[in-house]
Amino acid sequence: MNVLTASDPVTVDVKLGVRSYDIVIGRDTIAALGQRIATLRPGASTFIITDENVARHVLPAATAALDRARIKHGCIVVPPGESSKSFAIFEQVCEAIIAARIERGDLVVALGGGVVGDLAGFAAAAVRRGLDYVQVPTTLLAQVDSSVGGKTAIDSRHGKNLIGAFHQPILVVADTALLDTLPAREFRAGYAEVIKYGLLGDAGFFAWLEANWREVFAGGAARDHAIAVSCRAKAAIVARDERETGDRQLLNLGHTFGHALEAACGFSDRLLHGEAIAIGMALAFEFSAARQGLLPKAEAARVVRHLAAVGLPTKIKDIPGVAPSVDRLMELIAQDKKIKRGQLTFILVRGIGAAFVETGVDQAEVRAFLSEKLAER
Ligand code: NAD
Repeated sequence: MNVLTASDPVTVDVKLGVRSYDIVIGRDTIAALGQRIATLRPGASTFIITDENVARHVLPAATAALDRARIKHGCIVVPPGESSKSFAIFEQVCEAIIAARIERGDLVVALGGGVVGDLAGFAAAAVRRGLDYVQVPTTLLAQVDSSVGGKTAIDSRHGKNLIGAFHQPILVVADTALLDTLPAREFRAGYAEVIKYGLLGDAGFFAWLEANWREVFAGGAARDHAIAVSCRAKAAIVARDERETGDRQLLNLGHTFGHALEAACGFSDRLLHGEAIAIGMALAFEFSAARQGLLPKAEAARVVRHLAAVGLPTKIKDIPGVAPSVDRLMELIAQDKKIKRGQLTFILVRGIGAAFVETGVDQAEVRAFLSEKLAER
């Protein structure tokens, strides 16, 4: 597998017919943000949505890039964290876009992690019945996952991401140098989503990550390479199944267990999304091996070893201060997924790089497996 040199920005094409767009990946790519926008939408004004942390670290570079291309820009800064994916903040953002006289033909810019991307993308989908927008993801999770594919949403009191729209961006600029200021725990959580692409469909990439993860964490060419491979994998799946009726469900590897654990923690900082997915993927591999006999237990153990090596949690017991019961977890899984005649849909694996959608997983099997896991010392 070739590793890119640090100076080459890579472009990944998301092929969706008239809704196709580029993901530009590389260090310092934010410097050309204005130029790229001016080329795509000559004369357009922009409105930036960002959060307080990103405003401190990244906003000056973004506005400088827009100034150099003589692009007008307004801005709203929202509080950091999941609580900004609320109706109240959504209303403020929509009103701010309208007050800034952003019209059809102008652009919304989502500058931040997955929270800002989801919020800004949904505001762009709703204001004036749909404005174009550009994603400038600033977390690893957003660069490899949430900024690509057009899923946008805010949260309801009934659950996460329940109010939203499919709305594709017209451009994604992933400046990998922006991740240098990301807290280590957030970087690690995003890395779980990078591992996911290896686990679901690319055993060679997983082996490469096992050998090169330290360089990915350090930055430079290996980080850019890992992000480019991840974006290519996501772009290919989204191109096959934009609206998640088939293959796109594979991206939910680790999410059934993961969401239940996130919910058991009240979606708090006790367990970040990527950390929940790390435990969820470990459980999906162990369940596929121990209960379904789909792969050797040693292969599941290899997955757990890599997750643990980078410092990600792999067991329910790794979550500090939370000890959900099996009844509670089954209740949360049932809320997340419809159970039809005692059967659940799960993303299972036949090995590393070989995930598939299984619609007939016996609820009782899942319960027995989780009971065993909770009893483990
Ligand atoms: P986040 O947006 O909350 O960012 C994490 C933290 O890092 C925040 O405190 C933020 O202010 C800070 N931060 C961001 N960039 C920084 C930088 N460059 N330097 C320093 N600090 C920085 O969290 P996230 O993990 O990026 O995203 C999680 C959200 O993404 C969830 O709401 C989840 O539902 C959503 N998501 C969406 C999709 C999708 O397809 N739309 C996919 C996966 C996750």
